Amino acid sequence: MDYVYEPQKKVPVFEEADVIVVGGGPAGIGAALAAARNGAKTIVIEKFGALGGMQTQAMSSTFSLLDPAIQGGVITDIIDRLGAEGGILRDRSPRTRTAAFTSTNFDCEVYKFMLDDMMAEAGVKLLYHTTGVGAVREENALKGIFIECIQGRFVILGKVIIDSTGNADIAWKSGVPCMDDGHGRGPKKGRHMGLGCRFYISGVDVEKFQKFKKENPDDWTGLYGGRSLVTKAKAEGKYYGYRESLIVNTSKPGVAMIEGFNSPLAEGHHGWMIEDVTAGEIDLRKQVFSAYRLLKNNVPGFENSSVEKTGTIPILRDTHRILGEYVLAEKDIYEGRTFDDSVVISNMGPDIYGPDEEHVYEVVRPHDIPYRCLVAKDTDNLLAAGATLSADFYAFAADRYGAPSMCTGQAAGTAAALAARLNVTTRKLDVKLLQDTLRKNGAPVTVKDLPADILETYEQRYQKNRKITDL
Ligand SMILES: Cc1cc2nc3c(=O)[nH]c(=O)nc-3n(C[C@H](O)[C@H](O)[C@H](O)COP(=O)(O)OP(=O)(O)OC[C@H]3O[C@@H](n4cnc5c(N)ncnc54)[C@H](O)[C@@H]3O)c2cc1C
Repeated sequence: MDYVYEPQKKVPVFEEADVIVVGGGPAGIGAALAAARNGAKTIVIEKFGALGGMQTQAMSSTFSLLDPAIQGGVITDIIDRLGAEGGILRDRSPRTRTAAFTSTNFDCEVYKFMLDDMMAEAGVKLLYHTTGVGAVREENALKGIFIECIQGRFVILGKVIIDSTGNADIAWKSGVPCMDDGHGRGPKKGRHMGLGCRFYISGVDVEKFQKFKKENPDDWTGLYGGRSLVTKAKAEGKYYGYRESLIVNTSKPGVAMIEGFNSPLAEGHHGWMIEDVTAGEIDLRKQVFSAYRLLKNNVPGFENSSVEKTGTIPILRDTHRILGEYVLAEKDIYEGRTFDDSVVISNMGPDIYGPDEEHVYEVVRPHDIPYRCLVAKDTDNLLAAGATLSADFYAFAADRYGAPSMCTGQAAGTAAALAARLNVTTRKLDVKLLQDTLRKNGAPVTVKDLPADILETYEQRYQKNRKITDL
């Protein structure tokens, strides 16, 4: 039997809102705070029990390449608040304009706790442990979403829906055109990035480990290391992992955060096929324990350690994105292209894991993200944000990151609030008004506004670091 039919049923309306944000990752956080601060009745639907998305569920508690000239508004408030709450663990943002890659790490438990407060202060209603399962559609316009939670199945009606699910869950499950194209050229054409993860080890004698690193500088630089250990163990069949080194971040007392795992996806396989996700989880857990045992048995400082925490979800790097009115292209981000309808600047370059064992990060010029990349093509009242952005594989591999996601979220939330207030569709919204509102709220909107000296520093960085493979 290939199919069965579900019986039709009457679904009760749970709530009505101006703006429904589905997914509470960095994009959803930016969207919800911006929408509510611009006067919209805003509700967030999140399938787990906290905000943060991958930043908390997969523990990617990092904003890379933070620069106040590039990102502002909600993200500035969040970083300031994290600082005030003692939640910033390691701040590398002052080097962003010159270094190829910098990261600012934060404590994801402080982040979760703090975000609940920030949402309450802004008047955002949160529904945790609730999954958006599809949209209420009337011809080419969305009118709300269906949700499922422990209480049952309901409808939430809204004027604008922001799909910030990280994988265009609402759009894709509602038949709105989406992209899932994979690599755009070369022998890997059509193939997708692998699944990844981070994990924490506690009981680490960080001082002892740092001393060991200093004594072995050829093997350990910055966060990257264990090269000869990993290579030898791999050759002897005693290590299961894809990288030739490990990323070991010890910015939290007694704890090491380990990163650098990839579970490649075979041709024709995707991070949204559930059997692949399950196989990826199992494979990643095997890599995690192999790395942990390697460190515990060989590296001073790890003798009395134990695995503290692995993520609730693996990193699903590359799933569905919404097809928008414009598809941001690889060329746009390398050239640092500007657009008249730009609403966000990004300084992030493509960070590509896989499909096989390689990791490539490429530096690009600061570039604009136009409003049309947030606006679903031919569908009214649906906006993309974060990893659901309308972009080709390479532009997506860049602008899916934490900071650009929060900023596209902020742009989507602001647009949604304006559209709801003015009673216009998201496709008809006056972009000049949106840009002015974003600027008023502290968000830079286009590379055209960047001072010449900042652009020049970024240009030098681009010329120096154009291509970096395996950081
Ligand atoms: C291990 C790891 C390392 C990383 N390293 C970095 C780094 O160093 N620097 C950096 O800037 N970025 C990094 N990233 C990337 C960054 O975390 C993501 O790109 C970013 O979180 C994407 O944001 P988002 O809000 O679009 O999606 P997500 O963070 O994926 O959030 C989506 C949210 O939607 C929820 N959701 C999904 N479907 C539904 C549904 N149907 N109903 C309700 N809720 C739903 C999910 O539970 C989730 O909370 C890393 C990611 C990982 C996992």
